[in-house]
Amino acid sequence: MPERGVVFLMYHELEIPSRPLCRSEAGYSRYVLEEADFRSQMRWLQQAGWRGMSVSEALVLAPQNGEQRHGVVVTFDDGCESDLTAAAPILKDAGYNATFYVTVGFLGQRGYMNPNQLHELSAAGFQIGCHSMTHAYLTDVDECGLQYEIVQAKAQLENIVGKAVENFSCPGGRCDARVIQVAKRAGYQSVAHSRIQMNTPMTSPFDLGRIPMLRQTQLPAFQEICSGDGLWKLQLREGVRSAAKRVLGNSLYDRGRALLLR
Ligand SMILES: [Zn+2]
Repeated sequence: MPERGVVFLMYHELEIPSRPLCRSEAGYSRYVLEEADFRSQMRWLQQAGWRGMSVSEALVLAPQNGEQRHGVVVTFDDGCESDLTAAAPILKDAGYNATFYVTVGFLGQRGYMNPNQLHELSAAGFQIGCHSMTHAYLTDVDECGLQYEIVQAKAQLENIVGKAVENFSCPGGRCDARVIQVAKRAGYQSVAHSRIQMNTPMTSPFDLGRIPMLRQTQLPAFQEICSGDGLWKLQLREGVRSAAKRVLGNSLYDRGRALLLR
């Protein structure tokens, strides 16, 4: 990782005109970008000379030497079909790699990739990571559940793509020491959540922050995020949210959020 750090971007489904989304609630579509907006973001990065990387590519970058170009890490969560049909071609045009974190239990459901599509995405050269088996909040899951969500999910993904799956991202960004320990023992090389921070050579690979990309984000704000300059504004907002999560617990927080977003 370069000395000054790298911003990891976290995307979800992309909206393709006249195609229904995987889910319809407001809390979900907030994180869905239109395909055209994602294309504009990648085009801007490319024209500005930025490099787009997978998680593993960023982790092996030496802090000092070589890589003088700016770079960001591009990640997608959940394993939506638009990963293959919309995101992959745009990334390929830009010459970028990315990490696609897949929820194993969603494979084959309406709007999500099926195992053949996942294999195709991996064969195209993109990195596949694991985003659990059922998308449960892992901080609420017991030891046995963690084995299922983290260890068995890894094995199933590896069966499909025929390659080692070494990177894990936590559903809902919920992560704790038990999750990290199980992931380490299972042979993962990194764990990502969604805390808003730049990752630097000092950041543990098992504590990688990512910036959630929101539908309403305009190109100037996107540029500020990639450079790291706009992160403090998002951190302020996140501070309020995580305080609410601590006080209310996951399920009450989610119910309250659903009410507010209705
Ligand atoms: Zn998710």
